[in-house]
Amino acid sequence: MEWYNMPRTLRALLFDMDGTLYTNGPYMAFQRRILLEQLAQRQGTTFTALDEAVQAYQNQWAQTHGGQTVSLSNTLVHFGLSIEAGIRLREELYEPEAYLQPDPLLRETLRTLGTAYVLAVVTNNPVLVAQKTLSALGVADCFHGIVGLDTCGVSKPQAAPFLTATEWCGVSPTDCVSVGDRYDIDIALPLTLGMGGLLVAGVAEVYQLKESLTADLPLLGQHRYSG
Ligand SMILES: [Mg+2]
Repeated sequence: MEWYNMPRTLRALLFDMDGTLYTNGPYMAFQRRILLEQLAQRQGTTFTALDEAVQAYQNQWAQTHGGQTVSLSNTLVHFGLSIEAGIRLREELYEPEAYLQPDPLLRETLRTLGTAYVLAVVTNNPVLVAQKTLSALGVADCFHGIVGLDTCGVSKPQAAPFLTATEWCGVSPTDCVSVGDRYDIDIALPLTLGMGGLLVAGVAEVYQLKESLTADLPLLGQHRYSG
């Protein structure tokens, strides 16, 4: 894991969901594939053709934006799927419970972190999908709130979802850390808001946060119980 700009006073942790609170390659691939399949069908093209076009667009975007990643939601707007239509499709098509199981270690980690910090989810999935996902993982009651794609109508890495989460948590952005698996989507923008960032490779590194807290390690330890 990699820390960025650790806040002086840590009061809230804002978690990305997909790829952060669970690590599941088949489900991640399913989410992209089913969305592109439906869009291809609507547009009278094939999945393969659309998939190649989307990849080419994302590669081109990265080349013209210093190697940064564009979110799938923002990419599909370019291909004619509005944010609103994308929300409805995800709500219809995604079945996290078919892929994910309760994660007792994640639950224990979040419950422990929750004794010291306010926890929230900031995701580019709709709130309904997030609720289903967190329920499947057995951690739906571990968060103060969920900011989803339909909460602000814009996707990360825009500021609105992150700022909405800080408002709901009742904290200043400078007292927050954004935790996620994609630097360009989850970390870079929060840093410009004065937040800290924690880049994780997957849920296994989220488990380690509990140990950081309880072991009084310097990174989290100095901020222990400051909220
Ligand atoms: Mg993610």
